[in-house]
Amino acid sequence: MSTTVLPSYDEVVERYAPVIGLETHVELGTRTKMFCGCPTDFGGEPNTRVCPVCLGLPGSLPVANRAAVEATIRIGLALNCTIATWCRFARKNYFYPDMPKNFQISQYDEPLCTDGWLDVEVEGETVRVGIERVHLEEDTGKTLHVGGATGRIHGATESLVDYNRAGIPLVEIVTKPIVGTGAKAPLVARAYVTELRDVIRSLGVSDVRMEEGSLRCDVNTSLAPVGSAEWGTRTETKNVNSLRSVERAVRSEMLRQAAVLDSGGRVVQETRHFHEDTGDTTAGRSKETATDYRYFPEPDLVPLAPDPAWVAELRANLPELPRMRRRRLQQEWGLSDHDMQSVINAGAVELIEQTVAAGTTPAAARKWWLGELSRRANELGVELSAVGATPAQVAELQGLVDAGKLTDKLARTVLEGVVAGEGSPTEVMTSRGLEVVSDTGALTAAVDEAIAANPDIAAKVRDGKIAAAGALVGAVMKATRGQADAKAVRALILSRLGVEG
Ligand SMILES: [Zn+2]
Repeated sequence: MSTTVLPSYDEVVERYAPVIGLETHVELGTRTKMFCGCPTDFGGEPNTRVCPVCLGLPGSLPVANRAAVEATIRIGLALNCTIATWCRFARKNYFYPDMPKNFQISQYDEPLCTDGWLDVEVEGETVRVGIERVHLEEDTGKTLHVGGATGRIHGATESLVDYNRAGIPLVEIVTKPIVGTGAKAPLVARAYVTELRDVIRSLGVSDVRMEEGSLRCDVNTSLAPVGSAEWGTRTETKNVNSLRSVERAVRSEMLRQAAVLDSGGRVVQETRHFHEDTGDTTAGRSKETATDYRYFPEPDLVPLAPDPAWVAELRANLPELPRMRRRRLQQEWGLSDHDMQSVINAGAVELIEQTVAAGTTPAAARKWWLGELSRRANELGVELSAVGATPAQVAELQGLVDAGKLTDKLARTVLEGVVAGEGSPTEVMTSRGLEVVSDTGALTAAVDEAIAANPDIAAKVRDGKIAAAGALVGAVMKATRGQADAKAVRALILSRLGVEG
């Protein structure tokens, strides 16, 4: 245990320059596994989604899944990569109980996609993250350590293996080293994984859920003295299970490495585990090098040679990618960069888009989602999309305001009812009796009552002290429980008293 006091983050970035790199694994949402016909659906009884191929039984032969190859090429194209015209799978040899074959079919020196980039926004600046490679491999099974307190192997009495996940197609996306980001390195790492997730989601090839493990991220971090021509030794942090953790993992590793270097120590090349509870990393195994895996071309599979015409067709049919889509929407909605950033930060892009599609102006949609509903989501500690109101309901609510049936104030009360699950805006308005009093007869009666009850004030208004009418408006609003349009009430009072507004 080191007893070194960690330097402050500001001190660290003044003296050291970080280099980061990210390796992201994405489980593809194909119907079947990478090299066999077993289903990939989640949650089956252990070892019920298996066959001789994914169990690695002698004599079984793999066949590559075309849908997985197609999804990988589409990811590569979306990341501006070059698609190989010919490449091969390779065997990565290592022994681990959750790998039934004792090797993983992966890609080594001949990946399917290479040399691309992804632009990400960090604090109003665009950072271009280089993509080294995008390759295709198979997932491992899962080991469950039981009998211990922590679920880890230490202290466990036995271990169980479930091979349902073994052989599910996995795409690995590796960045080039990201240099020159200084103090922003943790934010860049987070922004990259966020953007990558959104790109892959827009392609519809994976559900990219970090909390469920369909998107997993390893974070490489090294530090070198500012101005040094050489990079420092890097560590690889595993188990980073949320976007927030990506940022925290880089930051905590920068602080730890700085303390090691400050005390004259040497950073060891190793994998480290990120701990969600403390935000710290602890040492794992010392990192294998490529030679430890004794890679060689997979002899049981034919090479992949994607037809250039097929690749061109996939390229032509890529969907609009998130960054382009955000730009287009910003223009359509007439927002400044700053206002658009607020919408993005609030997680409201899709919600506003859908509300507008349901017939509301962008300004009104933005007002509800960034105002009342964001406040509500914060109170509940949930994502905006889980706040309890749908875009269609927000559009309906605004429609009631536009039709003069609700004032803004009444609409906020109706929205509370909608979020509380009381029904659609119209239903809540009706059941709670919140509709604006628009019946002229009823309103006139209320106005006449207020005038009769306040003869002194009425006289003042008749004498030309128009400002005194406010008290009568207040009386009418009170009598109608706030459900009248105050402007209309004021006009009606003045007209009943024979005064020009
Ligand atoms: Zn199988």
